[in-house]
Order: sequence, then structure tokens, then C-alpha cells
Amino acid sequence: MTGTEQTEQTEGSERAGGTARRWRAGEHILWRYRDHGGPGRPPGDPGFAICRPVTVVRDTPELLAVWLAPGTECVRPALADGSPLHEQPLATRYTAPRTAVRDQWHGAGVLKLARPGEPWSVWLFWDEDWEFRSWYVNLEQPHTRWSAGIDSQDHFLDISVFPDRSWLWRDEDEFAEARRAGLIGAAEATRIRQAGRAAVTAIRAWDAPFRDGWEHWRPDPAWPVPALPVDWRRTPARTRL
Ligand code: MG
Repeated sequence: MTGTEQTEQTEGSERAGGTARRWRAGEHILWRYRDHGGPGRPPGDPGFAICRPVTVVRDTPELLAVWLAPGTECVRPALADGSPLHEQPLATRYTAPRTAVRDQWHGAGVLKLARPGEPWSVWLFWDEDWEFRSWYVNLEQPHTRWSAGIDSQDHFLDISVFPDRSWLWRDEDEFAEARRAGLIGAAEATRIRQAGRAAVTAIRAWDAPFRDGWEHWRPDPAWPVPALPVDWRRTPARTRL
């Protein structure tokens, strides 16, 4: 077996759930999103656009729940000159060169819920006084689990869900622009819309996790805020070398 094959096998086994160990409540892991390629990515850069250090709340074969604490140092994308993405007009937002910047998570914390294999995760938003505001269904690739966290890729389209069970689509304009800019192909766009319809079916049925009372959950006040590791970009294969 060559070194390359070994690396691919190692990575493959991690991707297939080779790191089967369940994380304990209170452990720190990384919740990362890959970018969609495009200009400005140096050769060899694994292309992670977002990295959020989080605390594990629950990890079972059915559900991964994590807490993104206020003030956590995260990695987020910015324009190459450091300015925020939303300052760039939509027409060029996905083609202007980008960089990754370290920044604190502003505002209240977020509880993130993901079911293995599902093409979305559900985030719970409260205000600073713990008044529950909404769920946010973030359409994304089903998670890849590795030894120090989970990786995914954002699919632009999102859904907000409110306590009165009303809901609405979010970011349809960004989805359309990403499609136009070629970041999403026709077949993928169809899959993403199908995932969105499946999520809406779950919302209308008031399926998990909406019915599960997570809005009453609170973090353990003794939990420290997770640190952003220096090697936050590391790939699963490299962690075994
Ligand atoms: Mg999204």
C-alpha cells in the first residue's frame, strides 16, 4: 500500500464513521464548513470557510447537539480586504476574492442540532435574556464526522421557524446568486430544493427537533468557552500522521 492509499484509507475510514467514539457532554469539538471553491484559494488549502469551536451537549447515533457559547473565537469568511461579506453587493458577493478571519461570536449563544445523514442542521436562537426567538434550519451537506469535530458545506438556502409554528424561507436571493455564479450546479440545486421541501414537511408535522423542548435547554454555567486551536484547518487525514 502506498502512502497516498494509506492516507486515503485513513481519511475514508474517518469519513465513514471510523472515529466511532461518542463525544461526552462538555467536550470541545470543531463545527466547520467548507467553502465553495472560487478565486483566491491557495493550492493545498483545504478550503474551510467557517470554524466554530463548540461544546458537546449530547452525542448519540440519532443526534449531535452542541453549544456555541457567546464570545467564542471563530473563523468566518471576509472579503480579501477584511471587510464583511454583506457589504459586497450580491451580484459580486460570491466571486470577489475572500479570506478567512478570526472573530468573536457576537450576541447570544446558539444551540445546534444535527441528525446524522440529514441535509440540514437546526439552530436555536434566544435573545440575551434567554427569551426564545426561533429555530433556524440551515440547509447543508450531511455532516462528515472526524476525530475532532464535524465538517459540512453550507447550501445557502435556510428556513426560519417561529414558536407559533409559522415559518419562512431565508436567503433565496443568495441561493439564486450562488446558482448563477456557478457555485451550485443544476443537479445539486435540485437536491437542495428537495432537502428544503423535506425540511418543510418536518416543520409542518412538527417533527423532531421542534417538538422536543430544546428551547428550554440551558448550558452548564461551569462550561468554559472553547478555544480556537491554531491548527483549526487541519484535515482528518493529517490528524493521524
Ligand atoms: Mg445557510
